[in-house]
Amino acid sequence: MPERLNLVLFGPYGAGKGTQAQILREKFNMAYFDTGTVLRQNVEDKTELGLKAKEIMDRGDLVPNELIMEIISSWIKTVPSDKNILFDGIPRFLEQAKTFDEVLEKNHINVLRIFIEISKEESIRRQVERRVCQKCQKIFPFTYKTNSCDVDQGELVLRKENDPVIATKRADIFESQTIPVINYYKDKDLILSVDGLKSIESVTSEILQVIQK
Ligand code: AMP
Repeated sequence: MPERLNLVLFGPYGAGKGTQAQILREKFNMAYFDTGTVLRQNVEDKTELGLKAKEIMDRGDLVPNELIMEIISSWIKTVPSDKNILFDGIPRFLEQAKTFDEVLEKNHINVLRIFIEISKEESIRRQVERRVCQKCQKIFPFTYKTNSCDVDQGELVLRKENDPVIATKRADIFESQTIPVINYYKDKDLILSVDGLKSIESVTSEILQVIQK
């Protein structure tokens, strides 16, 4: 295994990327850059970047790439140089992949790219079947079979965001914008795929095998 482990995780909505990110972060004590969460935090903190991003995010559009690169560049500077890093939610489209790689190179960060692969149909199905606790709003994947929350026993219900039209739109955007990024790295032999249809434990062990290679 390399001395410093930096990962970029790719996967459509519902692939279990968040779950695997959580496991890997704990296992390797990683600094975590989750693009959507960092953006929402900037909006909440009313930073200059957050103020610019808010309106765009409210419209459901992608935040301009220059802003994302500014955010990433300043975030990287806050991470100690020997700390492992996990990037999530980036890059989402080809131009962003190229500029993101430039930022990584400039900061001497080598990354391993992993794609958690599920089909478009599976991505839509999993998004639609996600449930939320009525009391604490914790989100449960479609694989969670019990009807009550493991935190406060609240009832689990389907989320109103689980609209099939929105789920399909997200899956379409992933297919048209992010799959070209994955193919770009595949052509250069710079990304490895794991089968997202397997159980959480099996996906984790596939990822660990990829890391150990
Ligand atoms: P997410 O939590 O990943 O769904 O992201 C929430 C919102 O943040 C998206 O709807 C976009 O507006 C924005 N966003 C997240 N990641 C990116 C990215 N890599 N590039 C541009 N905008 C992004």
